[in-house]
Amino acid sequence: MTNLKSIDAFNEAKELIPGGVNSPVRAFSSVGGIPRFIEEADGAYIKDIDGNKYVDYVQSWGPLIFGHRDEDIENAVIDAVKHGLSFGAPTQIETALAHEVTDIFDSVEKVRFVSSGTEAVMSAIRLARGFTGRDDIVKFEGCYHGHSDSLLVQAGSGLATFGNPSSPGVPADFTKHTLLAIYNSIESVKKCFENSKDIACVIIEPIAGNMGLVPADKEFLHELRDLCTKNGALLIFDEVMSGFRATLRGAESITGVTPDLVTLGKVIGGGMPVGAFGGKKEIMASLSPEGPVYQAGTLSGNPIAMTAGYTALTKLKKNSNIYKILEDRATRLVNGMKDAACENGIDMVVDVRGSMFGFFFSKNGVKNFEDAAKADHKLFALFHAAMLDAGFYFACSGYETGFISTRTTDQMIEDTIEASKKVFKAIK
Ligand SMILES: *Cc1c(COP(=O)(O)O)cnc(C)c1O
Repeated sequence: MTNLKSIDAFNEAKELIPGGVNSPVRAFSSVGGIPRFIEEADGAYIKDIDGNKYVDYVQSWGPLIFGHRDEDIENAVIDAVKHGLSFGAPTQIETALAHEVTDIFDSVEKVRFVSSGTEAVMSAIRLARGFTGRDDIVKFEGCYHGHSDSLLVQAGSGLATFGNPSSPGVPADFTKHTLLAIYNSIESVKKCFENSKDIACVIIEPIAGNMGLVPADKEFLHELRDLCTKNGALLIFDEVMSGFRATLRGAESITGVTPDLVTLGKVIGGGMPVGAFGGKKEIMASLSPEGPVYQAGTLSGNPIAMTAGYTALTKLKKNSNIYKILEDRATRLVNGMKDAACENGIDMVVDVRGSMFGFFFSKNGVKNFEDAAKADHKLFALFHAAMLDAGFYFACSGYETGFISTRTTDQMIEDTIEASKKVFKAIK
């Protein structure tokens, strides 16, 4: 396998684009090596500019549940393009997609569309603050909610206290309103509520996918719901990644916990840039122009993006049995790799939720960020590089989730497991 063209392309890009990429994880910094520049993709395969073909377990970081170049989405988009790319005026396809989202998510009565997950979360938080008249928010260590200021936070003097900025350029004055709690620890959330009487909302990935795949315990989510209700704070489920990925009707449908607001992204755009946030009518009524909380977007509800999303969601609704099929397939994949690791004396823990899968090179189960950080990420880097060489494209960080699509076949899963056997033998 040669990567000469990717190497050249990366060097050229680095001259003009910081780090050569438009989103940092793509630079392969945490695993080393050269990011593959992509020429095209189809179904479960992705092909780079050197002509190498890989089984793609990234799927654009989640959106492509039907794989690359799904015929229905592609045709719908081509048709929409011929009517104009953008109008900056209302279109019926926005209402059609809103129908789908409110039908699929019980907790969502009204929804607003934006252009990214970051924007969805940022807006939902502003809405929660405006609605409650409070300033503070609680987030969990290891959960990612996009790159807006108040969410780029790391632990300060201790957990359950106000956080410090995790990036230069974020004023401490902004993050002093963000309290950090420990995932799956209700005690840490209780401490947050003891430390502040001004908490507008608690935001959580109910199925965390940004510290590897770490689903929240059901009981923890129930306790979290109770705590929010008791303290008059809103509960926001950030399902930008897990929405329509882990299951059709959201984490609320598998946990029985109803959030006040939900943020969506990734799959909801069918591969185009779409984010959304929604929830109860009374809360959404605070949003401009119905209410006073300002939020806007020139390209929000873009007709091409809405068309892609609408086609994806209606197709998912018609084929809701795919989640079970994908979950079985993903389970075979991670269990097969785990057995292969075990045969070579490597500890691995695995998890699956629908079409999302995760694994850590760790002896112990992973319940929170600290556990995830203790996994062997050096070994992950070796695994990643060797699998890539063998033609299998896994996310380039041990803190990411893997995705399979409806185009990922049983044969591909078998081939991946076989390849992993050789890889584990070589890297152990
Ligand atoms: C990807 C992601 C975001 C950010 O979405 P962007 O479209 O990258 O801005 C927010 N929250 C979660 C849970 C995500 O996985």
